[in-house]
Amino acid sequence: MPDPIFAREDVAESELVTRRGRFRAVAFAHGGSEHLALVFGREPLGEDVLVRVHSECLTGDIFGAVRCECGEQLGAALDAIVREGSGVLVYLRGQEGRGIGLVAKVRTHVLQDEQGMDTVDSATSLGLPVDVRDYTPAALVLAHLGVRSVRLMSNNPDKISSLEEHGIRVSSRVPLLMPASPDNIAYLRAKRDRLGHDLPQLDRFAVGERHG
Ligand SMILES: [Zn+2]
Repeated sequence: MPDPIFAREDVAESELVTRRGRFRAVAFAHGGSEHLALVFGREPLGEDVLVRVHSECLTGDIFGAVRCECGEQLGAALDAIVREGSGVLVYLRGQEGRGIGLVAKVRTHVLQDEQGMDTVDSATSLGLPVDVRDYTPAALVLAHLGVRSVRLMSNNPDKISSLEEHGIRVSSRVPLLMPASPDNIAYLRAKRDRLGHDLPQLDRFAVGERHG
């Protein structure tokens, strides 16, 4: 037997029935934060598993804020996994605002709203890094679950190299495109133009246009 990836005291799992269905919930601690993987459907997992690695966004995920698309992506990823009949959602905590924390994230919102800065400039003008997220815990839990390669639901090409550096092969990237709206268009454009996210749906969005 190879050494276990997590120490016994750092991992626990149970069944978790949600309104979408029956998942296996695997809670684990790594790097000073506690995270959760939700596993759905057929096991054992191995190759080409449909996976979302989602960074916590309290305002979007819990309270349904529409200035970013995090909450919508979380729901859409879970829906896709259930539709597929199999997959894993890894929910990484301690990653608010691409890793700067909740207080700092809200501080960037002030600069965005009052000075028209985008998500990148509002962070750097506060002396904060633009993205310090670490995907190591996601790679570790995927390995713990027996996942060797993934079809990764993401618009962020950087996430691929980060998982692959940690031994999880990304066999393909599955776009997770949320509709643009007047509320999120500035944020989405900054993600596309300054952070290199692949967001082709923005090409169809004209200023002042409302999408459902
Ligand atoms: Zn968000």
